[in-house]
Amino acid sequence: MNWCDVKNPEKRHYSLLCPLCGQRRADDGLMLSCARNHSPALLQTSYEEREFKPLTDVDGVFRYRSWLPVTRTFAGAGGTTVLRSERISRFLGLPRLWLAFNGYWPEKGCFLETCTFKELEAYAVLGRMPQESPVLVVASAGNTAAAFAAVCSRYARPCLLIIPDRGLGRLRLREALRPDVRLVVLEGADYADAIALAEAVANRPGFTLEGGVRNVGRRDGLATVMYRAVEETGELPEHYFQAVGSAAGAIASHEAAKRLREGTASRRTALPRLFLSQNAGFAPIHTAWQGRTGALTPHDGSHAFADELTNRCPPYEVHSGVRDSLTESAGEVLTVERASAMAATKVFWDLEQIDLEPAAAVAAASLFTAVNEGKVPRDSSVLLNVTGGGRARLSQDFALQQAEPHLRLKADGPRDESLDLIEGLFATPDAARPRKPPVQPTAPV
Ligand SMILES: [Zn+2]
Repeated sequence: MNWCDVKNPEKRHYSLLCPLCGQRRADDGLMLSCARNHSPALLQTSYEEREFKPLTDVDGVFRYRSWLPVTRTFAGAGGTTVLRSERISRFLGLPRLWLAFNGYWPEKGCFLETCTFKELEAYAVLGRMPQESPVLVVASAGNTAAAFAAVCSRYARPCLLIIPDRGLGRLRLREALRPDVRLVVLEGADYADAIALAEAVANRPGFTLEGGVRNVGRRDGLATVMYRAVEETGELPEHYFQAVGSAAGAIASHEAAKRLREGTASRRTALPRLFLSQNAGFAPIHTAWQGRTGALTPHDGSHAFADELTNRCPPYEVHSGVRDSLTESAGEVLTVERASAMAATKVFWDLEQIDLEPAAAVAAASLFTAVNEGKVPRDSSVLLNVTGGGRARLSQDFALQQAEPHLRLKADGPRDESLDLIEGLFATPDAARPRKPPVQPTAPV
């Protein structure tokens, strides 16, 4: 397999395929969509390696680098830990329950330092980008920003993070931010507002949009959760539970299952049935799926239990997006009340002494309900994606530092003025421009 040619580090071991028009093309590391003029579709990666071949001498996300769209890797990158909890299995009466834990839980070998699975996507997105790249613009509800902040800062990758003000509390990090990373807080905004501003910034020279679910690096980085599960358990799970905002992780897990089915098991193996969950009261994907239409109803996420799930514009209708993934997997979307999510949090704390992120609590609560309602047979295999956990535990072990914004903007402020101010953040002498990084990635590999 020609995974990466040292003499030609930008030569890639995969191509990009448009699932709608069938066009295949080489990746430049930044591309987000098909160049042809047709309705939206999520580009797919097509790897030269067709078999599932984890690198057994590598830990973390880059263990699966033959199925990652990267030309370089980063030493010390974390990954998912797949484990069983006898206590929780007994509590639920679900002996074949596996937890895909993404976070900090040192006794179990979990060391994602920003405590969510967003760290997986950050490593894969950066590994995909060319060595000399424009400033990466990332919109986030909070957790993605924390992941990119930590990784871009450590490896000196120029990055602009745009978050709504309510996400700032997620950016409590082990290390102070280096000047390569600039943080903009949008006041009175939600995630969709942050995305809109990020897209406007990225239209200016010197910036490139990370692109969220459209970035194959992001999705394939998140796909490693399923790869890790199959490597650990030896089979695709029958049921897969995850809480979703944009549903990038769920789409990625579905894509991973299809790739694994082609590369490992019999094609007769059923794909995992997706059980996706959202906050009761803010559930645009649930509403759309119940109606089986493309319509997304506006929601107010200000009182949601898990605000990281409050994306009012998820990629539902787009080709190979949420609706297609649910259809292909015979999936289901559930909603979870605040009290149920809090009860699930308590179960994990009482039985395993580990704290859950709100989104992971929503997913766990949806599993508890689905089991109790008989939607999941008790003898079936189940994978619960614990998308984040251990933040309280991390703060006990390390003195975390709150990242301070470099700029605060009003969501309804004048757009051109906001863009000028953001550009100005990268004009100062100590600001981010590609230069010699303090920590070199292990690239090319
Ligand atoms: Zn196309």
